Amino acid sequence: MPRKRSPAPLGVPPDLDIAAFRSRLLEWFSANARDLPWRRSLDPYHVWLSEIMLQQTQMERGVAYFTRFIARFPDIAALDAASEDEVLKLWEGLGYYSRARNLRRAARELMERHGGVFPRDVQAIRALPGVGPYTAGAIASVAFNAPVPAVDANVLRVLARVLDIDEPVSAPAVKRRLEAAAAELLDRGAARAFNQGLMELGALVCRPRNPECPACPLGPLCLGLARGTVQSRPVLKPGPEIIRVDMACGVLAWQGRIFIQKRRKNDVWPGLWEFPGGVMEQGERPEETLVREYMEETGLAVAAGPPIGVLRTSYTRYRITLRGYFCAAAPGVDPVAEHRLNEADEARFVEPGELSRFAFPSGHARLVTKLLTDLRLPAFLAGESIA
Ligand code: SF4
Repeated sequence: MPRKRSPAPLGVPPDLDIAAFRSRLLEWFSANARDLPWRRSLDPYHVWLSEIMLQQTQMERGVAYFTRFIARFPDIAALDAASEDEVLKLWEGLGYYSRARNLRRAARELMERHGGVFPRDVQAIRALPGVGPYTAGAIASVAFNAPVPAVDANVLRVLARVLDIDEPVSAPAVKRRLEAAAAELLDRGAARAFNQGLMELGALVCRPRNPECPACPLGPLCLGLARGTVQSRPVLKPGPEIIRVDMACGVLAWQGRIFIQKRRKNDVWPGLWEFPGGVMEQGERPEETLVREYMEETGLAVAAGPPIGVLRTSYTRYRITLRGYFCAAAPGVDPVAEHRLNEADEARFVEPGELSRFAFPSGHARLVTKLLTDLRLPAFLAGESIA
């Protein structure tokens, strides 16, 4: 005899007042929703861009990038027609550049498969490059009011506290339970406001640190608040180990132009431009690193000059210290004729004023800013010796 399967665990405890949860949340959102550009238009193209841009990005910063992006690429067709360099340049500083590349790939698919019209169906949205289950739910519900949940980190945190979940929220079974809870709680007739309200509550009130429980509309329903466990919810697994990386790179000038190269498609930061350089090996001085890296990456013999600056950036779990130097070709070396593309897809010699047209990883982008305001730059470009 086959045994009867026990039912899947419920997302929401039976005694939680779901009607009160919905009405309290919706009322709060209607009074407290932030005025954001994509909320005004509800254009699915805008909602999609905002969702992709806001991943790992603070709201204020996201709005600034969104506004610039929409001004340059007002619709899907304009984004589809853009070059990768243009899109990456507008994305410069936001990090996680695969998001920008996926936007372009998705724009192409939207033009080819959907005639430039954003699909309403959540499965069709989910099939676009760079769109996961959360993003698909967010676009479908916010743009089209489709009755699907959208569970991001804010929502996970709110629900883990309201339901007082004492296991790590990143565990697949716990995540599934919280997703089931979000689906049960969803007000299917008002998915747009409900999903945005839950995310907004997580961002503004039920914040990661110092949640404002006295001002929270869900306070009377919150098990974490009732049991005094808010500070320990959600339960998080320890983060990945932080790795510190020291790097050095060199800015080479030749006949008034500056050498830059484009990173390979299969490398970290593909398609972005950089000054040649790399990770310092043990016992190596930064000047030695850049001389070695120039030879390995470009085949050029160079001599390190004075420092330009030290830039500190983060990339996932890496904390990078980048030291930038002026450098010069060794006597008798002609960089234009002799440079090789050993670790790059393309190289150029550009005027300093042209550097702002290219997208660089954040450390190199900040080095560009330092370089362009460095009073030694004219003498460096003229080939004079500088200190
Ligand atoms: Fe979060 Fe506090 Fe509101 Fe509970 S009462 S949902 S912990 S802000």
